Amino acid sequence: MVVIEDIATMKAYALDIKSKGKIIGFVPTMGYFHEGHLMLMRMAKKISDHLIISIFVNPTQFEAGEDLDKYPRDMERDKNLASSAGVECIFAPSAKEMYPEDYTTYVTVENLTNRLCGVSRPHHFRGVATIVVKLFNIIEPDVAVFGKKDFQQLTVIKQMVKDLNMNVKIVGHPTVRESDGLAMSSRNVYLSLDEREKALILNKSLQHVKNLFKAGLRDASKIKESVIQMISSEKGCDIDYVEIVDPERLSPVNTIEDKAIVALAVRIGSTRLIDNIVLGEQC
Ligand code: AMP
Repeated sequence: MVVIEDIATMKAYALDIKSKGKIIGFVPTMGYFHEGHLMLMRMAKKISDHLIISIFVNPTQFEAGEDLDKYPRDMERDKNLASSAGVECIFAPSAKEMYPEDYTTYVTVENLTNRLCGVSRPHHFRGVATIVVKLFNIIEPDVAVFGKKDFQQLTVIKQMVKDLNMNVKIVGHPTVRESDGLAMSSRNVYLSLDEREKALILNKSLQHVKNLFKAGLRDASKIKESVIQMISSEKGCDIDYVEIVDPERLSPVNTIEDKAIVALAVRIGSTRLIDNIVLGEQC
């Protein structure tokens, strides 16, 4: 496995792989790997000939005052885990390499980004879209895998790739959870033991409404109310949003006809966690 830190070398490496007719699989990450990241890598490995990942804590997707500086990092551990997942190349540029001083270009995906997480993180998806375009331009992957835990991100990337006629197939991987149901996240390390316990209410509330849906409830406001009630009954859980949305347009639905996503963001102490569930699929 090679680790590349500069753009020119990364471009040359990827071009060489492509010239051999190989399919490049790509998984962009911010590192500090957990099993969720590794599952994405294993999936990408299965559907490609050569697996490249990136590790880059992207400053432009953090709002002012967020956890950019304290975001967990452990390159040595990540290298070992990536290698065990079959990664052939890690692209790990510095912030200066990706955003030199004279940097001025940003990619904005409209509409899909001004709701859900976009409300409390108004610059987040601009940063995500920008870094993903840059990474795609550098690596030119044939297929890229993103997690459904960040389903708004996945939706935004799919739309961007379609709108900009980019030559990459975007594949979503189901949310990977701890055995007690908590969605895996690099940010879970911020949680104290007590907060970690409280965080279980996120998935519990989603499982609860899945059961209500199975029993025939289709009224989105009742489903939403049920999630809000469960989460607010847990002290110290501060709801950012709970929304029931259409999976493609991310617009709120009143009655669940076919399929809808229940998405939420909750602050527990100073940690903001997101989670979601699809209703109407495998339910
Ligand atoms: P991150 O390093 O948090 O930016 O995540 C890198 C990729 O891993 C993104 O596509 C995330 O959606 C995905 N990911 C993170 N956590 C999970 C999880 N628990 N299950 C599935 N995918 C995940």
